[in-house]
Amino acid sequence: MKLIRFGPSGAERPGIQMDDGTCVDAGGFGRDYDEAFFSDRGIDQLRDWAARHADAAPRVPTDARRGPPFRRPSKIVCIGLNFRDHAAESGMAPPEEPVIFLKSTTALTGPDDPIVMPRQASKVDWEVELAVVVGAEARYVTKECADEFVAGYVLHNDYSERSFQLERGGQWVRGKSADTFAPMGPFLATRDEIPDPHRLGMWLTVNGEVRQKSTTAQMIFDVPTLISYVSQFMTLLPGDVISTGTPAGVGLGMRPSPVYLKPGDCVELGIDGLGRARQNVVESR
Ligand code: ZN
Repeated sequence: MKLIRFGPSGAERPGIQMDDGTCVDAGGFGRDYDEAFFSDRGIDQLRDWAARHADAAPRVPTDARRGPPFRRPSKIVCIGLNFRDHAAESGMAPPEEPVIFLKSTTALTGPDDPIVMPRQASKVDWEVELAVVVGAEARYVTKECADEFVAGYVLHNDYSERSFQLERGGQWVRGKSADTFAPMGPFLATRDEIPDPHRLGMWLTVNGEVRQKSTTAQMIFDVPTLISYVSQFMTLLPGDVISTGTPAGVGLGMRPSPVYLKPGDCVELGIDGLGRARQNVVESR
């Protein structure tokens, strides 16, 4: 099942994207896709509701704005340098343990919303990523049972302002957390839709030119390892997000010199089975 949310920012309504591409307004289901929804078998309940009511439910207008496909989570955990090809282009040895950082949850935005340059930004960069949505409270989870803690998967563009991230000391969180720096969607694909998250093609273009083209097979630490690893250090709540890292082809890695985004640029990206998204870059506010 594919979960969507649609409507104005901050007032999104839940929906379901059907196999024929049309979307059902799931307002009649009576719940949003939030922590409580994921924690008490909300996906199963939604599936039951859809089997009985989807045919008669109103359709979402095709021009409706897409929001993030879940309510703002308690955490967005990101994994750095987790793709062999990206570690190589960054000139870094593959890490011996996963590199973890947090991204502000206020960065979350819809998949096709504009990307707003932060004030004083000069090095805004893209990162197509497979993000995992946690389906149950996870604490000291083993790798072997980590799959049970996955609600589903979502397409994410982990935007960065590299000068904030890398040139001003301290942690990466500063360069990752601006408003609009975490567009997610177009939908959350439930776990059953993605039988193997480690064989998914992924791509990203800037103004139509291919910048990233790789596959999740390039991951150094796989999804169960990451869930288990992160849960050794913090409790993951239902609805939390773990973004699993980006492959080669970011602006920072371009030769002979890095290339970054500017107002007017258009970024498009996609992952097999998770749809595609499109973001236009706009001036700071
Ligand atoms: Zn990233």
